[in-house]
Amino acid sequence: MSDFQGISAQWRPLREKVERFIEDRVYPLEQGLDDVDNDTYFEIMRPLMAEAKAAGIWALGHPREIGGHGMPFADYVLINEVIGRSEHAIVALGTHTLQDSLMLHQFATEEWKDRYLERLVAGEFFPSVALTEPAVASSDPTQLQATAVLEDGQWRVNGHKWFTTWANRAAFSTVFARTESDDTPAHSAFSMIIVPTDAPGYRIVREVPVLGMRGCHCEIELQDVRVPASNLVGERGKGFKIAQKRLGPGRIYHCMRWLGQAQRAFDLMCKRANERVAFGGPLASKQLVQKMVFDSAAEIQACRLLTLDAARKLDAGDEARTEIAVIKVVGAQMVHSVIDRAIQVHGAMGVTIDTPLERMYRHARFARIYDGPDEVHIQSVAKRILRTYAGGGDWDFAARDPIGAREAEAAQ
Ligand SMILES: Cc1cc2nc3c(=O)[nH]c(=O)nc-3n(C[C@H](O)[C@H](O)[C@H](O)COP(=O)(O)OP(=O)(O)OC[C@H]3O[C@@H](n4cnc5c(N)ncnc54)[C@H](O)[C@@H]3O)c2cc1C
Repeated sequence: MSDFQGISAQWRPLREKVERFIEDRVYPLEQGLDDVDNDTYFEIMRPLMAEAKAAGIWALGHPREIGGHGMPFADYVLINEVIGRSEHAIVALGTHTLQDSLMLHQFATEEWKDRYLERLVAGEFFPSVALTEPAVASSDPTQLQATAVLEDGQWRVNGHKWFTTWANRAAFSTVFARTESDDTPAHSAFSMIIVPTDAPGYRIVREVPVLGMRGCHCEIELQDVRVPASNLVGERGKGFKIAQKRLGPGRIYHCMRWLGQAQRAFDLMCKRANERVAFGGPLASKQLVQKMVFDSAAEIQACRLLTLDAARKLDAGDEARTEIAVIKVVGAQMVHSVIDRAIQVHGAMGVTIDTPLERMYRHARFARIYDGPDEVHIQSVAKRILRTYAGGGDWDFAARDPIGAREAEAAQ
């Protein structure tokens, strides 16, 4: 079992296998997957998914009881870092359904588990989550306007959502909607409801192009969509609580994958700096390039330690809200900056499709917005810390750190 200090011996060969699969099988197909329609996408992707299954590297982090490989969280986190090297690897290896599978497994009714769970884990279709709305600032989800009203044993769902990623490849969207009256406190007024994408009244308005890519971020309309009462995920009015449960581990997975992206960009940057010659010597001999290597190394290492620390706390049963909010901001900025520097060191080539960097850069830009923009996490962390001081306490970093905590224990 890993203690977040490194992958345990038991899983190391699997990590190497994943790395080889991504380098040999996924990297060569990446460009062909970028801007294709769904049919072409699945034509390329299905054989790759089948290969991953045959190689025993499919759905590694999903629990065994729902058809996954059942890796412990602590080890899976470190495999996820490698999977992150390619944004297409998460689909090729079936990890893209993890958060939604866990949510259904934990909160959905038996009927919906039977209907979707096994097929979701098997990669037969994508999941999708519809929270964000174009009409309101959705970083404050208490403002969301979608509604679901229970009538004659059915939910009648109405709403206008966008950035419902993968709705065009999904069998269902989990829709975040107000189910309680206006006088209910906002954090108890919203629920999650499963809406099949083929339900009458569910319409994909468009796939919203983003930074020149297709992206599969869909604008959807829900007009008097009727679904059974049993489509409620978890308890009524507990949408925020379920979202929080989903987002905690989800953000650790994101951060580990961003570290995988950063590693790939760092490798490319250092190789290029050694090979490319200008002004009488390799770029690697220029102090300004050395500074880019230094800054990237320091940011990657700092983010990695912060992320593993948050993962360790989460694994120990702590909600680790502060730690997770911190890594969401630090990780998203880190991956953006490291890829940006790698592009700079490549000069014009860095912005062409002759390296994966331009594509990685576009994806990295999204990271500072989805799952809560930087500013929202910064605000929540700073407020929590300041509240502690306002209440007469302090924010003792040593006591929050495992080494500091052990020292404090020993001193008693
Ligand atoms: C690639 C991508 C994929 C996505 N996938 C999904 C998905 O699958 N499902 C889904 O529901 N949503 C998805 N989203 C949407 C995403 O979660 C929202 O964009 C995000 O929550 C912000 O909401 P908003 O766009 O309405 O921005 P707004 O709420 O309008 O905020 C705009 C800006 O205001 C600033 N701001 C906000 N609050 C504060 C504050 N308190 N202090 C200071 N500044 C602040 C921030 O800079 C923020 O970027 C995705 C987004 C992207 C880019």
